[in-house]
Parts: sequence; structure tokens; C-alpha cells
Amino acid sequence: DDSEELFSIEESLKELAQLADTAGLMVVDSTYQKLSTPNSRTYIGSGKVSEIKTAINAHGVETVIFDDELSPGQLRNLEKAFGGNVRVCDRTALILDIFDQRAATREAALQVTLAQMEYQLPRLTKMWTHLERQSGGKVKGMGEKQIEVDKRILRTQIGVLRKELESVRKHRKQYRTRRLSVPVPVVSLVGYTNAGKSTLLNQLTGANVLAEDRLFATLDPTTRRVQMKNGKEFLLTDTVGFIQKLPTTLVAAFRATLEEISESSLLVHVIDISHPLVEQQIDAVEKVLSELDASSIPKLMVWNKVDKADNPAEIKLKAKNMEDTICISALNGSGLDEFCNAIQEKLKDSMVWVEALVP
Ligand code: GDP
Repeated sequence: DDSEELFSIEESLKELAQLADTAGLMVVDSTYQKLSTPNSRTYIGSGKVSEIKTAINAHGVETVIFDDELSPGQLRNLEKAFGGNVRVCDRTALILDIFDQRAATREAALQVTLAQMEYQLPRLTKMWTHLERQSGGKVKGMGEKQIEVDKRILRTQIGVLRKELESVRKHRKQYRTRRLSVPVPVVSLVGYTNAGKSTLLNQLTGANVLAEDRLFATLDPTTRRVQMKNGKEFLLTDTVGFIQKLPTTLVAAFRATLEEISESSLLVHVIDISHPLVEQQIDAVEKVLSELDASSIPKLMVWNKVDKADNPAEIKLKAKNMEDTICISALNGSGLDEFCNAIQEKLKDSMVWVEALVP
């Protein structure tokens, strides 16, 4: 029964397709099956396996992605069933691939490698028992020893990585503390991936940040300096976007990049008003913000993509009647003047503080 789930199967598969696109894959088909319990051998039933196999042959498919995490056994059985050249992976592996492609800083790269190793650790066992079976059981025992050795090596590497990550983080913190001592307020853009954060950043600063119809266009916080009409400046930071079904194993990789949020003077929550699950997305973002102790930071809600909405006039009117809410189109630039004015207004308090500090 998925009625209790926050996001429908269709929505989840749509997001998966967007993720695949971000990873550089071309999606040709998608399908799902409702079972009371997943098939222990192949996750899906045998009929569905044949159906997918037919589609694989028809489209010359190279990769089959499952929305849920597969066991190492299921993964191997499916690859066997689909034929030698087809790669089978799950949502977690796909997101790790994207992180790997997009990791731009040392810290992000370390976090991704760490998450990849932790993903591999429980999967080592089955890899070796697989080899044992291939050799007709000749290497039995040896395989088990090898698993232990490999696991130990991997655990040691994970330990080393964790220490390195800690030291990189400490340095960033020092840098951040220094930056904060320079009295320029920090404004953070938060929100779902694809909400239009990078587009907004581009429009405001002319910065060359990726803006594509892809998820995870920005992995690491990207900061730009913006000058307001009153001559004052603030730092605008783009943060890593949220996704609907973030595998729990990847939560840690997100945390550090989001840590900066709690030190902002102002949060700008960018919302894709044209998204069918806009309410759920807002709630999910607000929940994480409160978990990051960011609830007390002043906030501006930005309803973006108003040009795509069915009834823009109605939405604009609704936003007008709500506190701290601005309607914009980051794409065509409408509402950006109001947006800048709202930021200037919101930053007034910290500006007073800034002026008091500047001799
Ligand atoms: P981010 O993941 O939040 O940084 O989102 P992006 O800035 O990469 O935008 C995702 C997609 O939405 C891109 O294809 C943008 O062109 C598109 N987009 C962003 N803002 C708007 C807007 O105001 N209107 C429309 N129609 N599309 C937009």
C-alpha cells in the first residue's frame, strides 16, 4: 500500500528518470509492478523479467535502473537474466555515479568516495561467493579469507578517508569563520533540485554556474558576491538540492554541504511552483532546515517558474497576500526587482549591525 508514502510511484520514477538523464543516460522506457513482497531472487516477478527483457532487445538497452535498493544477489540474478552486456543498478548506485561526476571540491570528492566504499562494504561477500561458485567450489575457504582481507582493507581505507574529511572540514570551518568576521551577510539559496536555484544565481550575478534541466547541477556550495541598489553587498550561496527519495546511506554526504546553511543571515527557499508535488517539497525542505537548527534564521519564500503556472495572475495575487513570499521567473527575469528589494529589506537588521562594525 503506497497511499501512505509521501511520493507516488509515478513521481518517484519520474525523478529517477531525471536522475538518469543527469547521469548522461537516455531513458527509453519505465515500468513498475506491485508485489506484496519483492521476489527474493530477482526483486520483480519472472513475468516482469521477461517483459523487460523484450524491451531490452527492442530498444538495445544498456542499463536497467531499479528505484529501490537491490541485494547483491538480486543484482547478479537480474544481470544474468537480462544478458551479459546489460548493466543493472539501483537508485543509490545511480546517485553515487552522479555525485562522482559532479564532485567539484576536495571535500565533496572525499564524501563521495566514502559513500561509495560504504556502499561496497556489504556487497563484498556475495562477490567472492560468486567466484567460489564459478570455480566449482575449488577455492572454498580461500574466498572467505579473501573477503575478510578485502573487508579489512576497505575498513582501513574508510577510516583514513574519515580522518582526511575531518581535517578538510576543519580548514573550511576556519576559512568560514574568517569570512564571517568580514561583515558581509551571507544569503543561502535552499530548495529542491530543479527548483531553479542556479538559474536565479546566474540571473543575479552573471556567474557561470550550471543551469540545466538536470538534477544536481550544483553539488557544492557556490558563493557569489551581489551588490544591492543601496550599494551594500551580500554573499549569495547556492546549496546542494534536495531529492524526494534520498537513500539513507547518502544522507551524511549531504550534511556537510548543508552545514553552511545554519550560519546564514538569510535563507531564500526557492520553490518550483509548477511542480505537482510542490506542497510536499516545501514541507520536506522545511523539515530538514529545522533539523539543521536553521529555523530561527530569517527566510524569504521564492515562488519560481511562475511563467509555467496554469494561472500566473492568480498565483501572483496569492503570493502578494502571504508574508515573506515573492513570485518570480528566474528564467525570464520577471519579479527579480521585487526579489532584490525584499532581500535588501530583510537584510536591514544585519546591515545596521554591519555599519556599526565598519569604522
Ligand atoms: P537547480 O537544480 O535548483 O539549480 O535548478 P536549475 O537552475 O538548474 O533549473 C532547473 C531547470 O528549470 C532548468 O531547465 C531551468 O531552465 C528551468 N527553470 C529555472 N527557472 C525557471 C523559470 O522561472 N521558468 C521556467 N519555465 N523554467 C525555469
